[in-house]
Amino acid sequence: MTAGRFPRLPVPLLAPGFCFTCRKEKCGSGFTDTQITDDWLGRFYLCDDCLMEMGRGAGMRSAEEVEVLVADLGQARVECERLTVRLRALETIRVLVQEAQGV
Ligand SMILES: [Zn+2]
Repeated sequence: MTAGRFPRLPVPLLAPGFCFTCRKEKCGSGFTDTQITDDWLGRFYLCDDCLMEMGRGAGMRSAEEVEVLVADLGQARVECERLTVRLRALETIRVLVQEAQGV
């Protein structure tokens, strides 16, 4: 999978060979290569756990969470349509009752 200017890797390839924030050498879902190398510290990689934590702090959500939200939105729209139809029917009844009462 391409990630623009930040390649995705299963493991860090260059020294020091770990995530620059948590120093983890292995991450189940992989690493992002920041493409930044310091002469003294080496290559800066970011593991997915740290990346997700940073993204969550910035308001981002995982693909799975977004799928759940989209499904919830779909159900809410269906419910909204159902209630709108019911509201119109009740409004019609209210108008008919008012007319019958001469209001
Ligand atoms: Zn990390």
